[in-house]
Amino acid sequence: MERYDAIVIGAGPAGSAAAIALAREKLSVLLVERGKTPGLKNVFGGRIYSYPLTKLVPDWRDDCPVERFVTKDCFAFMTQDQSLLVQFESPRLASGKAASFTALRSKFDSWLAQKAEGAGATLITEIRVDDLWMEGGRTKGIVAGSDRIGADVVIAADGVVSKFTQRAGLRGEMPPQMVSVGVKETIGLPPETIQDRFGVAENEGAAYVLAGQPSGFLHGGGFIYTNKDTVSLGLVVSSEEVSANKVEVHALQEKFKRHPTIARILRGGKVIEYSSHMIPELGVGTLRRPYADNFLAAGDAAGFLINNGYTFRGVDLAIASGMAAAETVKLAASRGDFSEVGLGAYSQILRREKVLTDLATFRKGSQYMANPRLYSLYPRLLCDIIERIYTMDGGGKKKAIETVLDEIKAKDVSLLAMLRDLMGGALTM
Ligand SMILES: Cc1cc2nc3c(=O)[nH]c(=O)nc-3n(C[C@H](O)[C@H](O)[C@H](O)COP(=O)(O)OP(=O)(O)OC[C@H]3O[C@@H](n4cnc5c(N)ncnc54)[C@H](O)[C@@H]3O)c2cc1C
Repeated sequence: MERYDAIVIGAGPAGSAAAIALAREKLSVLLVERGKTPGLKNVFGGRIYSYPLTKLVPDWRDDCPVERFVTKDCFAFMTQDQSLLVQFESPRLASGKAASFTALRSKFDSWLAQKAEGAGATLITEIRVDDLWMEGGRTKGIVAGSDRIGADVVIAADGVVSKFTQRAGLRGEMPPQMVSVGVKETIGLPPETIQDRFGVAENEGAAYVLAGQPSGFLHGGGFIYTNKDTVSLGLVVSSEEVSANKVEVHALQEKFKRHPTIARILRGGKVIEYSSHMIPELGVGTLRRPYADNFLAAGDAAGFLINNGYTFRGVDLAIASGMAAAETVKLAASRGDFSEVGLGAYSQILRREKVLTDLATFRKGSQYMANPRLYSLYPRLLCDIIERIYTMDGGGKKKAIETVLDEIKAKDVSLLAMLRDLMGGALTM
């Protein structure tokens, strides 16, 4: 029977990172991917924070399929026809360890999986793992079709709806409030047009997070990332609110594209691709723990994602946790102990690598972000205040603070609730 030191399920960023690090330790690794090629069907907004890549592939800048280095971060509140944009630009956003870049997953995931192969891992594609091979409550390997393949340890890096973490007894059914749904379109535009419209130089890119109208004023938000000759535009919205409000995510995306601000920057663009995917909402706490006997979970499968309203981090945490899983396996192999106790070092390594600590920092943020006022009331309030401040119609002007108080009164906003929201944001985000 075929047997490996480790089997990794899923050649997304978490799985390939784990496979690279394991293969470098001269462990035999099988990386199994159901897609025709890694990343072909994988969906994300578009930005990757590079710090874990620098550790995993120090010379990544030589051949990584970077679209553009992000030098501009923008946050916008939007109503049906208004937008209030806060923009930050710095060359330092694109340099050194803190650099981040936009990417397309079909290219990026394939590149990372090739690095795993280059390091000595065996990659097989177009094979769906059907089940864990379990005996006496322990994971003995994987089941794919009629094949059983054995391993000392299985790393589940199969993404957000990981059936294997459930199978390994690390979580129950995923309730709807634990996931959001995301849609994304890739829209083709000439590079010079992207540079002009987004105010960036060649190779430089912009990242936008937009609150209010893009998610239909529901719990969620929109995003825009600039690639070389495409723009990635989409939105994320709570699955629970989508069903409660009986809205179609596709319809929200269409309205988002028709917003005057967005329609202007997309003018003449051609939709090249449409995709949708689920996203874990709660981050840490999704699993009871990310390991069991002969089993580890990494990336989205373990719920390692931070979406705190102004940053979206999944790929970096996936890579960092994949590397942490590999280090745990190496440690367990040196002790010959792949039991839950032997793999327990995973949590410490994840903390050392700041995966669990960053998740813990923003854990309460997900409760805060469930507040509906953030998506419906505040974008409208802020946009209306700014509109009134900048409007000169001869009707007489008030001081800015009076305008603010007028709008708060007109919208029947409780000052106490506003103060509580402000404090809540300051303390959790
Ligand atoms: C709309 C949207 C926008 C996002 N924007 C960003 C962003 O801008 N930046 C960011 O960092 N993150 C973003 N994310 C999150 C990010 O995409 C994920 O956190 C990241 O992809 C997690 O990587 P992963 O390797 O854990 O899982 P995945 O990327 O989901 O990879 C899992 C892999 O496992 C394979 N697989 C699944 N089941 C099986 C099976 N049974 N057998 C074999 N193979 C299997 C899949 O085909 C896939 O290749 C976004 C997500 C969405 C949905």
